[in-house]
Amino acid sequence: MKFDGWLSYRLDKTKEAGLNRKVRTMETAPLPLMTIDGEKQLVFASNNYLGLANDKRLVNAAETVLHEFGVGSSGSRLITGHTNWHQKLEDKISQFKRTEETLLFSSGYLANVGVLSSLPEKGDVILSDELNHASIIDGCRLSKANTLIYNHVDMDDLEEKLKATESCQRRFIVTDGVFSMDGTIAPLDKIMSLAKRYHAFVIVDDAHATGVLGENGRGTSEYFGVYPDVIIGTLSKAIGTEGGFVCGSKVLIDFLLNHARTFIFQTSLPPAICAASYTAFEIIKHSKDKRQLLHSNVKKIKTSLQEMGYTVKGDDTPIIPVIIGDTHKTVMFAKRLLEKGIYAPAIRPPTIPLGESRIRLTVTADHSLKEIDYLLKSFNLIGKELNMIK
Ligand SMILES: *Cc1c(COP(=O)(O)O)cnc(C)c1O
Repeated sequence: MKFDGWLSYRLDKTKEAGLNRKVRTMETAPLPLMTIDGEKQLVFASNNYLGLANDKRLVNAAETVLHEFGVGSSGSRLITGHTNWHQKLEDKISQFKRTEETLLFSSGYLANVGVLSSLPEKGDVILSDELNHASIIDGCRLSKANTLIYNHVDMDDLEEKLKATESCQRRFIVTDGVFSMDGTIAPLDKIMSLAKRYHAFVIVDDAHATGVLGENGRGTSEYFGVYPDVIIGTLSKAIGTEGGFVCGSKVLIDFLLNHARTFIFQTSLPPAICAASYTAFEIIKHSKDKRQLLHSNVKKIKTSLQEMGYTVKGDDTPIIPVIIGDTHKTVMFAKRLLEKGIYAPAIRPPTIPLGESRIRLTVTADHSLKEIDYLLKSFNLIGKELNMIK
């Protein structure tokens, strides 16, 4: 079989299973209202939770540094890619997350892979929540330690697995802070006390929680008032820019700088992106109003959908999964939303379990009440049309 023929054969199997993916072209900045593939759409699908991705203050900060430092950083951090803007941003994140030190990576994905492939050693065990992000899963796959999966936020199951591995060298519990498909918040207080009782280390990926959860938006650690051993985050969600980071002790950061291959062998982030991110953290400190607005938008959507008779999963986070169940019905639902000018993706197996197909809404602080009302009205109409609600 020729190269393309062989790939087409495999691709056809993906398509037959109804799992074909494709990209859509965004023709405007990431706002609630965007032009997608030539059509105006009200977007309930972005991670721009605080509206910072196109904030003028971030744009100006990036522009100034862009003129001074150029576009690309032109080297890895350990060779020529470490500028004073990387240093300033790392210090800023340490302050914000209340940890000793921080190490920047080029993305959250690479931060997770870097930590999990370097920290646990052969003979160690990683205990990983079944709904953890793909980058955690890939990090576990690269690790020389064994990985055990525990049921989603199931503390009894986690404890059982901690007991069963007591003879192992070391145990690491790794979890998303906020789960990207279910919108659940990991019970970090309980995880921390189990970790203490069974002498395990805790690694938290706070991608969706940074800027969003906790009194000052510091994330799940602030929300629960706990201090995990390793906190991982991304700049690409509420922070509105690009890049990943790891926070923890001075020794942890020194270790990762020497051992995390996704740090060592990667060209560093552009200094202009670091400057924009630095400004974002300055803004987030004073963004209590925006965070409150975000949470009141979340509450409004969740309670209204529940009152209509929808099953809505998750905790009080901007990720709002509306369970439709049947895969075809879910695809139909997303299509009907699109026809009404609303873009919210249908999430299907294998991303989520069979029978739990859903419309995954994400809301931002910048969605107006009028836009939210239109979303809710549309859910009401389509739900009735498809005989899902009364
Ligand atoms: C988005 C996300 C990542 C990846 O972050 P990037 O900076 O986009 O690479 C990692 N973990 C979780 C939980 C995420 O939601």
